[in-house]
Amino acid sequence: MCALVNNVYCVGRNYRLHAAELGNDVPDEPMIFLKPSHAVVPLDGSVLVMPEGRGTVHFEGELVIQASKEYVPGMKVDELIEFMALGIDFTLRDVQTVIKKKGHPWTAAKGFRNSAPLTPSIPFPGNDSLSDVDFTVLKNGEEVQRGNTADMIFSLQDIIDYIGENYGLGKGDLIFTGTPAGVGPVERGDVFELFWGDLRLGRCEIG
Ligand code: ZN
Repeated sequence: MCALVNNVYCVGRNYRLHAAELGNDVPDEPMIFLKPSHAVVPLDGSVLVMPEGRGTVHFEGELVIQASKEYVPGMKVDELIEFMALGIDFTLRDVQTVIKKKGHPWTAAKGFRNSAPLTPSIPFPGNDSLSDVDFTVLKNGEEVQRGNTADMIFSLQDIIDYIGENYGLGKGDLIFTGTPAGVGPVERGDVFELFWGDLRLGRCEIG
């Protein structure tokens, strides 16, 4: 991964079963929100402190890609992406429910410190072979989420085209590409492990 983290884009509701588990409609264009770059921290055995007294925090395990250069229209995923990682999009779910009702921005629910931990990166295997491998999230040793890019509503190509054309996409920008079903609450002491196939990319503990 490029050490510089620039913009942090996230895709909401990109897996049908996850949209359904939260009672949300499936969007007809990518639903993009942002996190502050300050939310990005290493997911490499670290203890991550979550906000206190603001209701339930949920984990959302996600595949994360990083742009290695400036996006130009017509660019293919394999030209833009050199590295990928796995991350957790931690979410203050009760706060999100309230601000969704009020129509307020999502920053309070999605942008708090430590809300975007990222495993060490691996070379991007190529867009066509991504779906050969599942990513999984283990909570306290038990699998809670399993994702595959084949199940995405919007493909990585759709996502980079949409973000690149509407908002701009350049070197160091991260994209959290959405979470599969199985999200749930975290408690102090919980341990999360993120696997790409059989390869454990990262681990963290909730402090
Ligand atoms: Zn998410």
